[in-house]
Amino acid sequence: MIGRGSEEQKTTRVIRAYQAATLAVALFSTVWTVIFAVNGLTAVAIAESFPVTIALVCFVLVSQGKFGIVNLVVQTSFLLFVIGFSLMFDVPEPGSPRVTHLFLPVLGMLGYLNHLRRPSRLQLAIIAASLVAFVVLHAADLRLAIAEPLPAELRAIGIWMNPAIAALVFCSTVYILQKRLSAPSGMARDLVRAMRRRELTLAYQPQVDRDGKVVGAEALLRWTHPTRGAISPASFIPAAEDVGLMPIIGGFVLEEALVTLARWQADPDRATLTLSVNVSASQFNESDFCATVRDLLSRHAVDPTRLQLELTESVLIAGLEPVAEKMAELTELGITFSLDDFGTGFSSLAYLRSLPVAELKIDRSFVASITESDRDAALVRSIRALAQDLGLRTVAEGVETPAQHAFLYEVGCDIFQGWHFGRPMPLTEFEASLSASPRPNTAVENPRPARLAAG
Ligand code: C2E
Ligand code: MG
Ligand code: MG
Repeated sequence: MIGRGSEEQKTTRVIRAYQAATLAVALFSTVWTVIFAVNGLTAVAIAESFPVTIALVCFVLVSQGKFGIVNLVVQTSFLLFVIGFSLMFDVPEPGSPRVTHLFLPVLGMLGYLNHLRRPSRLQLAIIAASLVAFVVLHAADLRLAIAEPLPAELRAIGIWMNPAIAALVFCSTVYILQKRLSAPSGMARDLVRAMRRRELTLAYQPQVDRDGKVVGAEALLRWTHPTRGAISPASFIPAAEDVGLMPIIGGFVLEEALVTLARWQADPDRATLTLSVNVSASQFNESDFCATVRDLLSRHAVDPTRLQLELTESVLIAGLEPVAEKMAELTELGITFSLDDFGTGFSSLAYLRSLPVAELKIDRSFVASITESDRDAALVRSIRALAQDLGLRTVAEGVETPAQHAFLYEVGCDIFQGWHFGRPMPLTEFEASLSASPRPNTAVENPRPARLAAG
């Protein structure tokens, strides 16, 4: 499957912290590699070149904004290296304590920085393992039977150098953490203000069935800045995510969406419309997400079967089981789930077996090229076949042309969404467009239907 950069929400500060930390580790380990090599300690020099390599690979990946699992693998490698080195070479001698393990709390701090950006159980486990290893290696005189203690003259240097460098990196991490947790800056601060000033609104993009009838809409967040005008969600949502604002903003979106659904419910002509709401991973993985949804549904007396929640694979960062449990709880209420941007992630398809999803939403990047690229056309056919086998609906998003619509119709997609049918528009405009008579089956009989709205 194909990855997409926007999934990797980069935090500039965290990137800088990682760059600085990895370069420092690479430099530091190189110095030691040379010292060991010059002193004829070949085995130790080879071992010490291991963190140099990991640090440099990590630096390159982090500079490209690639965190995710790579980050966790790199942390695990360092953890194992420090434990191995401490047990094999850096064994405590009378008057000469172990020092390599002093980097473990720093590793834990860097892990915590990553956890703030992308919470995961695996990350928490690595942090815990780093801290436990630190305590054990500090308190116990553990060593391997085949241990080759470092010569006393080198240990004498290490006793001063390692704690000094560990303290320095520790202070830098604390500084970054404090900045990360302090008042949001720039766009994030503006966003907090935007919520207060009600500059955030929802746009509604029609979703059309195979008969050309509008059966619902996707609610898409819009920010109209007083001076900068419309700001794309693609830029402000990652910023909101970084500073932990997404659960609050997502709560606002849900509330607005339910107000709209309650309105539609009261009108017999609109009562059957569904509304799809995007839910970010951080919002979904909040411990009280189910309670919040339940509370909002009852407060607005909305039929849960009209609400559809769109999740992306990134939600699985919290682990398949807890996500599946939460989805099952909400599915019991009658809410349905859609897997958004399907085909862009890296996860194994096996997760589809465990998650109670009702529909797959084919990412618009595939739809964009179905008429030009045989590969993308084949991919869309496969996604449709997969959905059919699993008894799921298929939604095609980003449908811009009659040719794309005709192809997707022929493939068997159930629902269509895109500029060909209507751009995201204000609620009043969307509701007005519904009054227009339903359109015929556009795919076969009328390949160029009139748009619901432009703009
Ligand atoms: P998405 O959920 O995949 O939403 C579809 C995006 O495709 C929307 O971009 C929509 O305006 C755009 N689109 C629709 N039809 C077409 C088309 O025919 N051609 C092209 N080129 N684009 C089309 P938008 O509104 O900029 O949103 C971008 C992303 O921001 C969304 O992608 C979603 O991931 C996120 N987002 C938007 N609103 C919310 C929200 O309320 N909560 C959360 N968590 N995420 C949101
Ligand atoms: Mg969506
Ligand atoms: Mg999408």
